[in-house]
Amino acid sequence: MADFAAPLDARCVAAWKTETWRQQYSKRIKTLAELRNWINVTPNEAEAIQRSEGKYRWSITHHYASLMDADDENCPVRLQAVPNLRELEAAPDAETDPNGDIANRKTNRVVHKYPDRVVLLVTEVCPVYCRHCTRKYHTTDIGGTYFGETEAGSYEQDFAYIAAHPEIRDVLLTGGDPLVYPDDKLYEILRRLRAIRHVEIIRIGTRFPVLLPARITTEFCRMLEEFHPVWLSTHFNHPKEITEESAAACDRLLRHGVPVQNQSVLLKGINDNVHTMRSLLHGLLKIRVRPYYLYHCDNVVGVSHFKTSLQTGQDIMDALTGFTTGFSVPQYIVDTDLGKISASRQVLHRAGDGTVRVENYNGQQRNLGSAVW
Ligand SMILES: *Cc1c(COP(=O)(O)O)cnc(C)c1O
Ligand code: SF4
Repeated sequence: MADFAAPLDARCVAAWKTETWRQQYSKRIKTLAELRNWINVTPNEAEAIQRSEGKYRWSITHHYASLMDADDENCPVRLQAVPNLRELEAAPDAETDPNGDIANRKTNRVVHKYPDRVVLLVTEVCPVYCRHCTRKYHTTDIGGTYFGETEAGSYEQDFAYIAAHPEIRDVLLTGGDPLVYPDDKLYEILRRLRAIRHVEIIRIGTRFPVLLPARITTEFCRMLEEFHPVWLSTHFNHPKEITEESAAACDRLLRHGVPVQNQSVLLKGINDNVHTMRSLLHGLLKIRVRPYYLYHCDNVVGVSHFKTSLQTGQDIMDALTGFTTGFSVPQYIVDTDLGKISASRQVLHRAGDGTVRVENYNGQQRNLGSAVW
């Protein structure tokens, strides 16, 4: 399948292991020529990289690239990281913001959708731009962002909003990936949040344990310890991503008292079968990471080729529930502008016309059309 038969550069492949996270971060793969040192790029991937220029960002850490199968274009790691022509196909029903982050944005960074908790969109940058990102418009899309202003803007209004709303007890730092920021910048954000008395817990959403585990240094974990209770959610999608390095990163967090949870996305051709999902979940328990959510793949522009059917997700859930450790089974969720809604068979029933009536925690209802499934 490869259009290019050069031998892969073995020196390049091993060097990252001894580098600091900053070195690894700055040396991310960003060109076709660099990528060819790691995998035999197919014509589809090469053309997708060329046609993505000016449209979608891509970059791949050496750690994540080291997990890619050099010859299999359907490798689950490769599918998540290397641009593909299917991203550029028209998907008439897809949306840029199906979960209503923009509609619920209160300041440049604060998205306030649930009564007692908010999201703080710290950045639009990521170490790897996941092809399936639900915030693709904010991260991977060069023309888009969820920021009201720019990423560089002051945080004062964001902190002031949270301080002025005593009902906010839970703040989730996300992005993009907040851990692209250096520790001192994160320290300042955490310090300001902790100074707000009604903020009970701080959560961080980051894919660094999977994409660049060296980022989770002991110094970083010690810093988090100062701001407890701090919880962390990460994003493993496939058992291949559970490596010695990612296990060690999660172990460091856990030893510093930071509980680590996992949010996966159900992705066609990556983890949409019981066998893969079971080994992912069991692999997570072995590294003491607790499965939290399994998201139904959102109907996002450029992501449609990863969507599965509701039936597929429900069948996987049915094959897990009761058959294995209770807390290895995540909650299967569809995210909507009304919030996260259970997609389990017990709750969601697809009508004959393909639509589903869903109701959120607050009794609000919405009809999800067949394009969602
Ligand atoms: C997912 C999300 C949260 C957190 O939801 P939990 O179910 O508590 O994990 C908060 N705010 C927004 C806008 C979200 O999308
Ligand atoms: S790391 Fe998270 S926010 Fe960044 S591209 Fe991947 S899924 Fe999206």
